[in-house]
Amino acid sequence: MSPPGRSHLHFPLGDPVPCDPGTLRLPSTSKRLIAPERLTRPLTAVPGIGAVTARRMGAIGVRTIEDLLLYVPFRHEPPSRLTSVNDLQVGEDATLRVRVQSCSVRSTRRPGLKVLEALVGDASGSTVAVWYNQNYLKPLFDERPEVLVRGSMVRRGGFSSFVVKRHEIIENGGEGVHTLGLVPVYPATGELSVHGIRTALNRVTAEAAHMVDPLTALQCAGRRYLPKAEALLAYHFPRSLKAARRARERLAFEELLLLQLALLQSRRRDEARRYAAVLDPPSSLAAGFVEALPYSLTGAQRRVIAEIEADLTRAVPMRRLLQGDVGSGKTVVAAYCLVRAAEHGGQAAVMAPTEVLADQHAIRLAAQLQPVGLEVGLLKGSQGTRERRLVCGRLTRGELQVVVGTHALIQEGVGFRDLRVAVVDEQHRFGVHQRDALAAQGDDGAWPHTLYMTATPIPRTLSLTLYGDLDVSVIDELPPGRTPVRSHLVFPEQRGKMWQQIRAHVDRGRQAYVVCPLIGESEALQAASAVTTFEEVSQGELAGYRVLLLHGQLPAADKQAAMAAFAAGEADVLVSTTVIEVGVDVANATVMVIESARRFGLSQLHQLRGRVGRGTDESHCMLMVEREDDEALDRLALFARTTDGFVLAEADLRARGEGQLFGERQSGFGDLHVARLLQDQALLVAARAAARALLHADPELKDPRHVFLARAAEERFGSRTHWLDRA
Ligand code: ADP
Ligand code: MG
Repeated sequence: MSPPGRSHLHFPLGDPVPCDPGTLRLPSTSKRLIAPERLTRPLTAVPGIGAVTARRMGAIGVRTIEDLLLYVPFRHEPPSRLTSVNDLQVGEDATLRVRVQSCSVRSTRRPGLKVLEALVGDASGSTVAVWYNQNYLKPLFDERPEVLVRGSMVRRGGFSSFVVKRHEIIENGGEGVHTLGLVPVYPATGELSVHGIRTALNRVTAEAAHMVDPLTALQCAGRRYLPKAEALLAYHFPRSLKAARRARERLAFEELLLLQLALLQSRRRDEARRYAAVLDPPSSLAAGFVEALPYSLTGAQRRVIAEIEADLTRAVPMRRLLQGDVGSGKTVVAAYCLVRAAEHGGQAAVMAPTEVLADQHAIRLAAQLQPVGLEVGLLKGSQGTRERRLVCGRLTRGELQVVVGTHALIQEGVGFRDLRVAVVDEQHRFGVHQRDALAAQGDDGAWPHTLYMTATPIPRTLSLTLYGDLDVSVIDELPPGRTPVRSHLVFPEQRGKMWQQIRAHVDRGRQAYVVCPLIGESEALQAASAVTTFEEVSQGELAGYRVLLLHGQLPAADKQAAMAAFAAGEADVLVSTTVIEVGVDVANATVMVIESARRFGLSQLHQLRGRVGRGTDESHCMLMVEREDDEALDRLALFARTTDGFVLAEADLRARGEGQLFGERQSGFGDLHVARLLQDQALLVAARAAARALLHADPELKDPRHVFLARAAEERFGSRTHWLDRA
C-alpha cells in the first residue's frame, strides 16, 4: 500500500533522473538516483525564475533551489467559504468570485495610507471591495477583470465594505490556489507575495526528488511518515489541513532528531576526551558545613546533593544543570560542592554574571564557609590590577581554595593549581562559550565537575533541547516558612494610596525596592529612567526617607556601597534598574514596586519578584499599569494570580517566542525551521528516544543506512559553537 497522500501528488518523484557524475545512490531499496548537487544551484538556474525574483528571494535568505524547497510556511490558513455577494456575513472569512465594475484610489486622513476601492459584483449583487496601500493595482482593475477575492465584510459608520486580504485574477479559467485552497503563511516575505513564492516553488518541485532524506525508509515506515521530498511538497501544497499537519510533523521530527543526535554525540565525544578528578567521599568538613548551617536542608536540596555526590565520585566530569525557582536555595547546594572540592585539597570557583551578585556571593559564602575554615577570594573586572594579580597568584599557587568572580575568572592570566569544582550561577546569562570557559580551566584533558545553576523554569522536555548535553536536577520545593509574595496591579489613580502603604511599611522598619523598566535594550536609557524615578520619589512621595540609587552604569565602588548599605539596613528604599534581577538577597526587603510593568516579560518579573518574600513576613509586589493596554493587563493579571514559574514561562513562550525566554544566544531555536517548542514537546521526547536508540545500536553512525543522518546532523547542528553561540 502506498503511504497516505502519495497517490494524489502530481510531482514526478518516481521518474528516473539522469545520472550525473558524482551521483549518489540511495542506500535503500529505492532505485531512484539522486543528484543532490543540483539543489545547490542558484535560483536563476531554474527556467522561469528571473533575476528580480532571485534578488527578492535572496533578501529573505533564499538563494539556492534547496533554500527555496526548505522555505516552509509556518502554518496554513484554513480554506474559506466561496460565497455570493448577497450571502456575505459580517465578519466571516469568505471568498467571492466577482467582476470588477469600476475602481478608484482615495487618500485617507492617515498620512501615507491610500485606499483602493472597487465596485465588484456577481449575479447576486454588488459590493465595495477595499484594498489598503495597493493602488498599483488600479490599472489592472481598470480592465475590469474577473477576480477571486478573499477577506471579510466589515461594517463601519453605517457602511459595509469587503476588506480584501488576498486576491487572484482569473485568467483562462484559473483555479483559485491563492484564495480558495489552504493558503500558506510564511515567516517573512519581504518584497515577495505569497503568490510569488508559490509560483517560484511550482517551478522547482521536480528538484525535490534530489533531496537527500536523512531518515531511513525504516524510520519513515515506523512512524508512518512520507519520504522527505514528498513531505516537503505536501507541506508546501497540502490537500488538507490534516495532510499539512502530518507533513509538518515529519519535517519537525527529522529536525529534532538531528538536533538530539548532534547533542548526544558531542556529549559522548566530550566524555571520551575529558576526565575529572574523582573526589574522595565526603569527610568531616562537608558534614561540619551542613551542621553549621542556621537551618536544615530541604528534602529537595538533600536529593539534589545526593545526585551531585554520585557525579563527583566518577572520573567523568559532572555537567549538571541545577534548576530551581528563585529563592529555592540553590546557593547552599553550590556551597556544598565548594566544600567538597576543598576538603581534600582541591580548588573551586563560582562565576556570577554581575558584580553585584559576585559581591553578594562573596560575602555570603565567606560567612557560610568560615565555620569550616575556608577563605573565599574575589575576582572581578573593577578591581585594581594589583589586587587582581594578588588573587591570581594565590590561585595559581593553590594558596586560595575558593574563589568567586565575574567574567574576570575566565580572562587571560587566571589559572588554577587544581580546580576540581566549577559553579556557574544564573548560567542563562552567559553565552555557551563563556559558560564552558570556566570548566576549560582544568589542565589538559582534566575538567572540573561543573554545576550550572538557573532559575529560568524550563519545562523538562524543553531543557532536553536546550541542554541536551547536560544532566538536570531540580529543586522543586521552597524552604519552609515562606509566605508567597502577594502581587497587585496598581492603576494611576491608586498610586497615592500605594505610596502611603509603602511609607507605612518602611515606618515599621521594612525596606522596599523600586524597579525601573527596560527602555529598549540600552543600559544608558535604563539608567536614565532609574535616575529620573530616584529624583522624583526622593523629593516627592518618599521625601525624608533614606533612598538609594543603583544602576549598572554607576562606578563599581558606588554600586557596591549602595548594595552594602541597603543590605545592612542603612537605607529604606533602593531605586534600581534590573541589575537586582538576579540573586540579590535582602530578607528585610518586603515590598517591590515595578514601574511600567508591561515592559517586562513574565519570567523576568518573576525573577524580580523573587527578590522579596525571602523572609517569613508577608511580602508585596506592586505592578504599575495603565488601563489602556488590554493585552498587557491580561498577562499581568496572570502574573498576579500565580507564583508558578513554569506557568509564567509558558505564557512568555506563547506570547513572546523562544528567544525572549532563553535569550537568543543560548537557544538553538533560531536554527529550527519547522519544529516548535511548545507544540512539539511530545515529538521532542520521541526524537530524543530515537536518537538514543540509534546511537546505542550504532555509536559512530557508521552503518551505511545512517550515513545521511550522521552527515545531516553534523551539517545542521554539528559544531555547537556555530549554532548555539552565535553572539
Ligand atoms: P536561589 O535559589 O534563588 O539562588 P538562595 O540560594 O539565594 O536562592 O536562597 C534564598 C534564601 O533562602 C537565602 O536567604 C537562603 O539563606 C535561604 N535558604 C536556603 N535554603 C534554606 C533552607 N533549607 N531553609 C531555610 N532557608 C533556606
Ligand atoms: Mg541565586
